[in-house]
Amino acid sequence: MFLTITTTGTPERPATDLGYLLHKHPGKAQAFSVSYGKAHVLYPEADAQRCTAALLLEVDAVALVRRGKGKGRGGAPDAALAQYVNDRPYAASSLLAVALSAVFSSAIRGVCAAKPELPEQTRPLRVEVPALPARGGPELVRRLFEPLGWAVTVAPVPLDPRFPAWGDSRYVGLVLESESLTLAEALRHLYVLLPVLDDAKHYWVSSDEVDKLLRAGEGWLPGHPEQKLITSRYLSRRWSLTRQAMERLELVRLAEADDSEVEDIDNAVEAEAETEEKPTPLAVQRRDAIIAALKASGAARVLDLGCGQGSLVQALLKDPRFTEIVGVDVSVRALTIAARRLKLDRMGERQASRVQLFQGSLAYTDTRLKGYDAAVLSEVIEHLDLPRLPALEYAVFGSARPRTVLVTTPNVEYNVRWESLPAGHARHGDHRFEWTREEFRSWAAAVAERHGYEVAFVPVGPDDPEVGPPTQMAVFTLGTATTKTTNEKEAQAA
Ligand code: SAH
Repeated sequence: MFLTITTTGTPERPATDLGYLLHKHPGKAQAFSVSYGKAHVLYPEADAQRCTAALLLEVDAVALVRRGKGKGRGGAPDAALAQYVNDRPYAASSLLAVALSAVFSSAIRGVCAAKPELPEQTRPLRVEVPALPARGGPELVRRLFEPLGWAVTVAPVPLDPRFPAWGDSRYVGLVLESESLTLAEALRHLYVLLPVLDDAKHYWVSSDEVDKLLRAGEGWLPGHPEQKLITSRYLSRRWSLTRQAMERLELVRLAEADDSEVEDIDNAVEAEAETEEKPTPLAVQRRDAIIAALKASGAARVLDLGCGQGSLVQALLKDPRFTEIVGVDVSVRALTIAARRLKLDRMGERQASRVQLFQGSLAYTDTRLKGYDAAVLSEVIEHLDLPRLPALEYAVFGSARPRTVLVTTPNVEYNVRWESLPAGHARHGDHRFEWTREEFRSWAAAVAERHGYEVAFVPVGPDDPEVGPPTQMAVFTLGTATTKTTNEKEAQAA
């Protein structure tokens, strides 16, 4: 099995720089022993205009069998002969990927001591893999490489050229060309994607593979449209590892997205302070409406249920009247981002004593939620399946029973006013339902009735005469006069 890497050059940037980048001299043929055989590096051509490096792997099929996972595809795992006679010596697979990382390790890391400026540079690259086992066919090969900036030529290899009726084999000849990548990027793409296409790792995949994948995938895997398939196949479909990797990739993506979102909100708040003319984003209007209602209720100890990435918690912390703020969410990922955004680890002791984040599901009663003045459910109920809603209702209104509960949710009638929203679409992919004003009011009235609360409704955002406001908020207040908020008790004591 082999692959070649070709680059072209100019007198100022000679193609033979490839030798420096790969740490292998173009004038020599070298051999390295790797776990399943021998890897050879040689240069079929090497001058200033054009230079090609070939990596050729001689697989020792017997060693492969001795070490355990030598089964080729296409034969029953126990078929004795298939263990020895299989495609492994000829097809570019995880064995080639391992050889690639062993023989070109500095190049993959983008290190070049002799010419440190080289690894940063993009250059014309052409990679050829004559026999690539491609489970998923030519179409998948394109979906994997094209989003990364490669022009892909993929030619199916016939099963037997003498008998065209037999059709194609599962092998393809692959040529990748690009001018916009560095050599290190190209090698990291191959290191991950060759075994993904082969989809039959020759070794047992353990948890350190997750680290390897994330390291090799840095800069291109988060956000790749086939991220899930790549991750799952790379980790040999071991579900727990795949989930771990997907969560870490999602964190990288969210961390990037979240930074811009935080900036957006901060900018919006600043812009609002500077000029009255600019419209205030709905998220900011909602937050302001919630804070105003909390102040009016006299609450000091507040639960933010389904706190997401913590923007309300952050806003509440700025006002000393809120002496205890607890953010609860079912998503560990959201809480991790909230903690980072609040800079919990760098917070002074006094500030830190006011805030708590914990994981919990609102679909279950939870004694940790008892004894607070107010609870906020901002844009949360629509994320639950309707049949789960009575469970949330009981956990909040029946069990936790704060004196005040604020619930906000989209008003679906307003959706026709969103310019960017196609008719009939929900505002967010994860919304399980969106209610009209009538639907929300009748749900809220029934909840209040069942649990002894009174309820009032507050529009958030422009209250359109025809379709109402974009967000609807219900303010529930516990009916009996016996429950006092912390602030009222303190006022009384003073
Ligand atoms: N309150 C925030 C976030 C709203 S997004 C805001 O107004 O911006 C909805 C949040 O509810 C998500 O963070 C989601 O993880 C959380 N959530 C959904 N179902 C939940 C459940 N059963 N228990 C707790 N949190 C839940």
